[in-house]
Amino acid sequence: MTRGGGAPEALALALSPLLQPLRLLSRAGLARVAVLREIEPLVQRVVEHARPYAGDLEAGLDRLQETARGFDSAPEARRRAAIAALVRELSGLLEVPAEIAALARDESDPTPISDPMSNPTSTSNPTSNPTPTSNPTPTSNRTSTSNLTSKPTTSSPPVASSRPPVPARRAAIAAAAQKAGLTPDPLLTPVDQLRGVGPAIRDKLRGKGLATVQDLLLNLPRRYEDRRKRRTVAEAPIGERSVIAGTIAWIDEVRARRGRRLEVRLRDDEGGYLMLLWFHYRPALVQRLRTGARVVVSGEVRAGWRGGGKTMSHPDVEPLEPAGGGALPFDPSSDDSFGRVVPVYTELEGVPARTYRRIARRAVDEYARHLADVLPRGVLERRELWPLAEAVREAHFPDRSADVAAAAQRPAGEPHRRMAFEELFMVQLGLALRRRGVKVEPGIAFRASEESIERIVKSLPWPLTRAQRRSVEAIAQDMRKPEPMNRLLQGDVGSGKTAVALCAALLAVEDGYQAALMAPTEILAEQHTRSLRRLLRGRRDLHVELVTGSLGARERAHAERLVRGGAAHIVVGTHALAEEDTEFHKLGLAVIDEQHRFGVMTRARLMKKGARPDVLVMTATPIPRTLALTLYGDLDVSVLDELPPGRTPIATRVYRDAQRDRAYDVVRRELKAGRQAYVVLPLVEESEKLADLKAATKERDRLAVEVFPDLPIGLVHGRQSAQERNEAMDRFVRGEDRILVATTVIEVGVDVPNATVMLVEHAERFGLSQLHQLRGRVGRGAAKSHCLLLTGTSGAEWGPAARERLKVMEDTTDGFRIAEADLELRGPGEFLGTRQSGMPDFAVAELTRDQAILQEAREEAFALVQSDPDLRKPENAALRDAFQNRWRGRLSLARVG
Ligand code: ADP
Ligand code: MG
Repeated sequence: MTRGGGAPEALALALSPLLQPLRLLSRAGLARVAVLREIEPLVQRVVEHARPYAGDLEAGLDRLQETARGFDSAPEARRRAAIAALVRELSGLLEVPAEIAALARDESDPTPISDPMSNPTSTSNPTSNPTPTSNPTPTSNRTSTSNLTSKPTTSSPPVASSRPPVPARRAAIAAAAQKAGLTPDPLLTPVDQLRGVGPAIRDKLRGKGLATVQDLLLNLPRRYEDRRKRRTVAEAPIGERSVIAGTIAWIDEVRARRGRRLEVRLRDDEGGYLMLLWFHYRPALVQRLRTGARVVVSGEVRAGWRGGGKTMSHPDVEPLEPAGGGALPFDPSSDDSFGRVVPVYTELEGVPARTYRRIARRAVDEYARHLADVLPRGVLERRELWPLAEAVREAHFPDRSADVAAAAQRPAGEPHRRMAFEELFMVQLGLALRRRGVKVEPGIAFRASEESIERIVKSLPWPLTRAQRRSVEAIAQDMRKPEPMNRLLQGDVGSGKTAVALCAALLAVEDGYQAALMAPTEILAEQHTRSLRRLLRGRRDLHVELVTGSLGARERAHAERLVRGGAAHIVVGTHALAEEDTEFHKLGLAVIDEQHRFGVMTRARLMKKGARPDVLVMTATPIPRTLALTLYGDLDVSVLDELPPGRTPIATRVYRDAQRDRAYDVVRRELKAGRQAYVVLPLVEESEKLADLKAATKERDRLAVEVFPDLPIGLVHGRQSAQERNEAMDRFVRGEDRILVATTVIEVGVDVPNATVMLVEHAERFGLSQLHQLRGRVGRGAAKSHCLLLTGTSGAEWGPAARERLKVMEDTTDGFRIAEADLELRGPGEFLGTRQSGMPDFAVAELTRDQAILQEAREEAFALVQSDPDLRKPENAALRDAFQNRWRGRLSLARVG
């Protein structure tokens, strides 16, 4: 069946979001390929959106999707190859602008990231795709819609000038789609069709994944501010947020010893003065403020600055309109930043809050009505849920629900319940469908005798903790049963999950089976391999093999031979384990570390490598047991609630940049005592926003010259080859390097007991749970350890809120409390930015407080699957569609296998 044939323009439009990162790349140079992030999810999402318009080109879309597989964890050479493949596939589907097409020519490594054969529809390897690469410039007699994002400058390739103007092109798209019997989904309308969104803002929005009006609609406010009532300075209580209007009396930029400070005096209508303070600001801010200008400010009011009056630091400032109009004649309907409960969105660099609000308002007014309800009518009625369109409208601009939003100051009430319900319902639907799909077929019944357990445990270098022992017993019991094991092993960082996994693996190996351990990153896989080999040092008969995507072709082939032939007993690897090339001789047990970081397909493919192998999932994410059951489905759960003995608590302290020397003193003291140190930096990245961060290399050099001149300092980061990284790690493990400068690649798994101090730069840029993971790298020996969190000097993150957030780290080492604090502080609606807490990503729902909604959603989803197991009934058609399209890529849990 060909759907939508004859509508290449609609297809091109749907695929056009892919052009943006490629264009950036073509301008910045292919060398910047390492900077790209989240390419795989982007490609997945865009391709899914494009499917309805694919017609005969479905296979092309499949191939396109394949080119991005594994991209985000791939090393640079493979990324380059993948970009080339991506561009080639894309050229087969739409007219690719010449500057982008050029990317396909610059190809240094012809190996694709992952083999596309696992996808039956994709028959050709991307590199052997017949699409011409040398001259992909489109013929100009076709109407191109692919280039909506290009600037109409004279320097553009000649094709650009022969293209009809934008509105004409849009008309052509619409006509083409209509001819093909398609009405393009209005929700997929590109953002720049909204009034007030020009190319500059469009690019900024797209850069944050907001390409369509649907993206805008689903990018919910982080919190609300009640700006319905203004206060005078005298009325504003200390310690509370207030909105105060007034006139700027004077502006002063004060040069201080470190940096500068902006002081602005605001005079309210009753003559009260408020001091506004900025310790970090852009020049643009100063330009916006003028003496005599009428503004509204909002923020927390504090006690006086240097003894007098009230102050507000880093307030939101918005000019009153019209300029010079003394009587403040607001028309609330024309301005959504005042006189109402105002939504506050995650900040977008370069798009002022007020501008974004206007854009959001337009998207809501013009498109929210297209958000159809996909939940079955019965569910909506039984649970008294609002229509989705209304919920979204109110979530952005609370009206009916203004009081609730104002009181909670964050998404709450019915709008929130409606959206959280849908989100959780979709997840539960996935679980319900999956459970129905699990046929009760017998798996492997291992012997797993008590004697074997005893022998294995004895062979370890230390006795197991009670919690480890309990888990091993539970696992052994599962393994003896003929049904496949499906168990979750949950334990905080450092609780010793690896040893438990090893015991399970050895039980499988004893019966002549192989065990696989799949980890989400290469670093982690490498580290697991190292740990397992060390634990098995006495066992010459056991072979641990590593399979990752970055092995050289020959090494990889060799490793695969060992796995296929059965010579490898325990096979550790990344998602490469699940790829077509990796065949097991006799896979009996699959251990999956941090499974929420894998797609459902990856996991399913790994399972298929054996005859219904037992499955053990490991996670350091401390979620309450009941929640774990609900989220992960019908897993049995074992918890390691006890750390191995001999750990001393880690002393954690937050330092300001100005106190850097004191932090270095601590490091120096430890080094002098013969210990080793980590210096951790945010990821190496050079996009604009992070330009102020010190690149790892530079920092290493600086430390070597200025701070620790006579000490050997090593360096690991995500852009090294596996071999370079391994060598650097080995030098540190052997103690040859005393300091290791690292990006977050050391987040998990690194184990050097002699390292007793960790200094984290720009700690404010990390999620708390991620810091917790990082911190787990020290305190692994008997000596007291230190974690020093330096807060940078750049941007809003530096503010009091950031320090308060980091204080949680000083106060506790309990991963559970940290995860909860992280969740609370992180807030909902955060599609943007990187999520690092390790918790499943929900856009709307907040697991800590939405458990009741979760329960309801679960009941409904399971009941639905019971009554309509394949979602075949016509009334469930929309639901089925949405399950497959709208939410895919937005819900990590739908991907959890
Ligand atoms: P996790 O993966 O849960 O974060 P690991 O498995 O990496 O933790 O173990 C953390 C450290 O504790 C490792 O150095 C490991 O060798 C050590 N370890 C594990 N179990 C024990 C034990 N029972 N007694 C002593 N040390 C242990
Ligand atoms: Mg571990």
